[in-house]
Amino acid sequence: MNFNNQKPSEPQVPYPPFLSQPPKKKSRASAKRILTTLIILIVLGFIAFQIIRTPRRKTESITTEKVMSYYSLKKGELFANALSRCEVPDPLARKVIAGLRNCQFNFRQCKTGDRIRIVTEYLKNDSGINSPGVICQIEYQTNYDRIYEIHIDSTQNVSVAMVYKDFQNLTELVKGSIQSSLYESVIVAGEKPVLAANFADIFGWEIDFFVETQEGDSFFILIDKKYDDTIAVDYGKIYLVRYKGKIGDYYGVFYENPKGHYDYYDLEGKSLRKAFLRSPLRYSRISSYFSKARFHPILRIVRPHHGIDYVAPKGTPISAIGDGVVTFAGWKGSYGKLVEITHKNGYKSRYGHLSGFAQRIRTGRRVTQGQKVGYLGTTGLSTGPHLHFELLRYGRWVNPLRIIPPRAEPIKTQYLEEFYQTRDQLLEQLKQ
Ligand SMILES: [Zn+2]
Repeated sequence: MNFNNQKPSEPQVPYPPFLSQPPKKKSRASAKRILTTLIILIVLGFIAFQIIRTPRRKTESITTEKVMSYYSLKKGELFANALSRCEVPDPLARKVIAGLRNCQFNFRQCKTGDRIRIVTEYLKNDSGINSPGVICQIEYQTNYDRIYEIHIDSTQNVSVAMVYKDFQNLTELVKGSIQSSLYESVIVAGEKPVLAANFADIFGWEIDFFVETQEGDSFFILIDKKYDDTIAVDYGKIYLVRYKGKIGDYYGVFYENPKGHYDYYDLEGKSLRKAFLRSPLRYSRISSYFSKARFHPILRIVRPHHGIDYVAPKGTPISAIGDGVVTFAGWKGSYGKLVEITHKNGYKSRYGHLSGFAQRIRTGRRVTQGQKVGYLGTTGLSTGPHLHFELLRYGRWVNPLRIIPPRAEPIKTQYLEEFYQTRDQLLEQLKQ
């Protein structure tokens, strides 16, 4: 557009430029007047020019608009094929792959469901998008918190950065009623199986969800969820759980005292945890129970079995069932490699036939509940990989499956007031 014809014409100057020749004395006053007029005319002309110009500029305004497209890696799909599916031009795709390779990106770790976000930039005027898009950024998310950001500049140069993403934590109430099992009901509520497992763990000593759940029972979980935009990608802390069923109304309240000790407590501040775990290993099967008379498979004689045998793959981690002090860690006859832990209230636990000891497990060391003490094996008098587990009280063997272990420490009196406040605030959120 040519604006020159809109420009006001130059004022007619009756004299040549002032400085080119010294003005005569008698014409000084008129020269001054002309100069003033000239300045006013220039200013007015400039203002008029701006008034004429401004609205035109507005109608011509061009902005850029970024549009995001989301994709995810399909089963068995190569990264390069995914880029092609996402309409990334071949020359750019080659640069992107080279850039990622320089950034130590491991293409073999790409897996189904990895997310790809493509940012395309369009030029836009007031009447809408008026240019073909140009890809300016590609993001690849291998891990939910790790993102490779590929920036593409106007000359199609590629730079790659790996960033750890911050997520938004939102506290939500997950609730539902039991139809067939807790697991299925949690999934029906739109959640992942791990949430059912975590919920069941908190009530581990109170409720046996395999046998004690009934149709119509209800569950409540007040939990933090980590969000990436609008998608929940992970679970955070569980603040409060409630199970209201035919067997009773159970609550679990998360509380951390000022010294950093935390646990789940009932409404009165008693720990939901017991001093001992139900078993020293997860995902196992019992092959031999505690008995006063058992036919020994190797010795081929009938003799008592003072413990429980858990069968699991060799190398399975074995945990201390409770807080205590290691009073033996070494080889002991038919036990093979053995760890013995002395607990409060006259209890001792023994873990035999281990293939090895965990780090820092030595006589005299303190251990906490759930701490790894060793690995399942078949050392000593053993027919195959299994854990021989014993529990003694005041030097006498007891059946670990029969005892009712004491509860873990309740909330200390000095923190009770604070606990009640936390509890009431959480219960309030359960009403939503
Ligand atoms: Zn045994």
